[in-house]
Amino acid sequence: MESKITEVYQNAPVEGKETECEKVSKLLDLVIDGEATSEDQHYFNHHIEDCVTCFESHQKQKLLKGLVSGHLKRVIVPESLALSIKAKIQKTL
Ligand SMILES: [Zn+2]
Repeated sequence: MESKITEVYQNAPVEGKETECEKVSKLLDLVIDGEATSEDQHYFNHHIEDCVTCFESHQKQKLLKGLVSGHLKRVIVPESLALSIKAKIQKTL
């Protein structure tokens, strides 16, 4: 009996970080879309304070979503503004 308990213990996933990351990665979409509950949001925020991996994937997701909505906005940006931004970018090159 004792040996079996040891075996189960050794095969168990590392309690804490790994499983937390799995939970957080599932929450990520909800958080990005603003559909997470305040409890989930709190859990998520608390986790990414300590976990660089999840923090980075959150940043990437945010950026990606920003690019998508940025693309939609660009349609209504006046052409003159787009040109002046282009000119600024070219100056820095
Ligand atoms: Zn994590």
